[in-house]
Amino acid sequence: MSYPSPIAIDGPAAAGKGTLAKKLGSHFNFACLDTGALYRGVALLVLQAQDDPTDSQKSLEAAQKLDIDKIDHTAIRSAEVGQAAADVAVHQGVRSCILDLQRHFAANPPAGKDGAILDGRDIGTFVCPDAPVKLFVTASAEIRAHRRWLELSVNDPSLKEADILEAVIARDKKDMERAIAPLRPAKDAHLLDTSDLGIENAFEAALKLITSIGG
Ligand code: C5P
Repeated sequence: MSYPSPIAIDGPAAAGKGTLAKKLGSHFNFACLDTGALYRGVALLVLQAQDDPTDSQKSLEAAQKLDIDKIDHTAIRSAEVGQAAADVAVHQGVRSCILDLQRHFAANPPAGKDGAILDGRDIGTFVCPDAPVKLFVTASAEIRAHRRWLELSVNDPSLKEADILEAVIARDKKDMERAIAPLRPAKDAHLLDTSDLGIENAFEAALKLITSIGG
């Protein structure tokens, strides 16, 4: 049985989009694209070159150099790269480069896969506005910061949860207030609040929704 593709998952930082996307991907045999990793990849290149992520030209040059297969998935997870990703993500040139990569992935999932799932901030609104399934995954800022702290403090026990909360709130604000492709639910997105849901329950709720839409 084939299910509608692509599936668009959007939401604020650390809402559980990535974990949900992976579980849905393995359930439906869909390929997953973590689009935040692309912005983080660009940000890492900018920081490694000791350039400024608020510089649109330097950020564009980094985006043009980004090789999706060469992203350092450990280095991009740091809080510093997360903040820099939100800085490079405001530039139109960077977004255009990344838009092509994302649309290509959505239309041409890798061989052997039956569809694509993209998670990010603007998938349902801009990247794949015709996606048959759109989820907007959210949770309270405190819960999201706690989850991010659990994830990051393994490598850096000195991290303070309060600082992460402050950074999460600042990043959401930047993502929601930017002029181009701001973070917001698409009109036809289904909201999924994971504040009180474990990952299994969030997965079950998403699955129920997707299978009710088409199959
Ligand atoms: O999802 P993640 O936290 O890894 O995303 C890092 C940053 O990349 C976000 O805060 C946002 O500024 C940017 N981003 C975006 N559009 C997407 C995905 C991520 O602007 N589709």
